[in-house]
Amino acid sequence: MKRIAIVGGGIAGLSAAYRLEEKRRGGVPLDYVLFEAAPRLGGVLGTNHVNGCLVEAGPDSFLTEKPWAADLCRQVGLGDQLIGSNDADRKTYLLTGGKLTVMPDGLMFMVPTKILPTVFSPLFSVGTKLRMAREWFHPPHKANGDETVAALVTRHYGSEMVDRLADPLLSGVYGGEASQLSVRAVLPRFAEMEAKHGSLGRAMLAARRKMGQAAQAPPKPLFTSLKDGMQQLVDAVLARLTASSLRRGTYVSSVQPEHGKWIVTADQRSLEFEAVVVATPTQAAAAVLKDASAELAGELGAIQYSSSVTLTLGYDKAVRDSLPPGFGFLVPRSEGKRMLAATFVHNKFPHRAPADSALIRCFLGGARDEAILQLSDEEIVQTARRELREILGLEAVPQFSRVYKWKGAMAQYSVGHLERLERIEGLRQRLPGLALAGNGYRGIGVPDCVRSGAEAASSLWSFLGLAPDARQLPLNA
Ligand SMILES: Cc1cc2nc3c(=O)[nH]c(=O)nc-3n(C[C@H](O)[C@H](O)[C@H](O)COP(=O)(O)OP(=O)(O)OC[C@H]3O[C@@H](n4cnc5c(N)ncnc54)[C@H](O)[C@@H]3O)c2cc1C
Repeated sequence: MKRIAIVGGGIAGLSAAYRLEEKRRGGVPLDYVLFEAAPRLGGVLGTNHVNGCLVEAGPDSFLTEKPWAADLCRQVGLGDQLIGSNDADRKTYLLTGGKLTVMPDGLMFMVPTKILPTVFSPLFSVGTKLRMAREWFHPPHKANGDETVAALVTRHYGSEMVDRLADPLLSGVYGGEASQLSVRAVLPRFAEMEAKHGSLGRAMLAARRKMGQAAQAPPKPLFTSLKDGMQQLVDAVLARLTASSLRRGTYVSSVQPEHGKWIVTADQRSLEFEAVVVATPTQAAAAVLKDASAELAGELGAIQYSSSVTLTLGYDKAVRDSLPPGFGFLVPRSEGKRMLAATFVHNKFPHRAPADSALIRCFLGGARDEAILQLSDEEIVQTARRELREILGLEAVPQFSRVYKWKGAMAQYSVGHLERLERIEGLRQRLPGLALAGNGYRGIGVPDCVRSGAEAASSLWSFLGLAPDARQLPLNA
């Protein structure tokens, strides 16, 4: 019997456990134990129901284009629970000069692909619009090594584009800064498009034409989620795992190899395993692996994380009627607010709030505002209400509020991240039987974390002398 430990019970660790459970039920002689420091499993995924509203504590959805989370949902019997964002009402605003301005049509992740809406948008200065026109003739350019997203965007569109679009978009996803994040790790397609086509605008249009020719089906919604929230995924995976394999409230202090085995120490007890998946944020992975390899721990610990806060405010119908249509707004740093973005949940996923309610989800914190964690929940609510008053003229008192603080939860892929991953992989290979998963490596979103957990588990098959994955057995039993 092969025994495998999984450290960390976020979605990456759960995905690894699910893959092992599939094997076990398929008759492979293996056993696994999942150690989670917190009393509950799921990591940053969690959903609460308040006054008939669905409140997400962490992620509220995932990108449809990345299939792995939706695939896992289907495998655990949630295929009929998948829902798409209400893209008919998709409209996003940007705060500029204290006013909300709608993002122009045809903007594909900060790259303008339609001329007229961009020309008439008050979002950009004449100088930026001229640069957009010139960008069309940008010659192919292969950057010498990695660079920041800000460097690439400035080269094409100037610094206003970094402030108005790149920074707010990236802080919504990574809680990070365009001036720190690596193009190669965060926007690899941009680097490829620039090398091949020169102009990002021309490259985007070419890609869209190609997709349009290939796809006969109607376009898919941008975001996918679950009818009853992201917690549904956690619960459905847990229902398929072996209950006695799950150790909640169990902090792992060290993981180290000894005489061909792996010794996992948790709560002063040491247990022996053949292999181990460490599926925690890399800072925590560095701490548990420091005795296994100081060099590996050094590389893992060098990956920075930012903290974030989500705050959901529930209001009545009068507020719902007074809010602008669309999914919500982004706030560039230059506007001097603490809020990074706000989602009008009742528009993005309409059934998540009754028709007589409004639900606003605010996102605060990020790399430049770790201090937000020091505020009390009440201070965070007051800060957000003040800023919503300034931005939307919203005076109403919310019927309820929920604050969730996430310390060091969002990995920052800084310049050189991919090279660091290569060094990490080299060091990991010197420790046979160790696999790494989670949001610190090759994708921060839920789908990438699901994929990383599954791949980490599969990477152990040949080491353990087990047959490689021939097929995936859905665990519907
Ligand atoms: C506020 C917020 C909003 C987000 N929104 C979205 C979104 O809308 N869409 C999207 O796709 N992604 C979103 N993300 C990103 C995505 O949710 C996360 O990157 C992903 O869920 C991380 O999963 P994980 O398993 O890697 O890590 P985590 O969820 O952080 O889980 C790691 C687990 O390891 C445990 N652990 C740590 N150290 C130890 C130890 N020594 N012993 C035992 N256990 C340990 C922790 O307690 C934790 O439960 C969001 C993230 C946040 C924080």
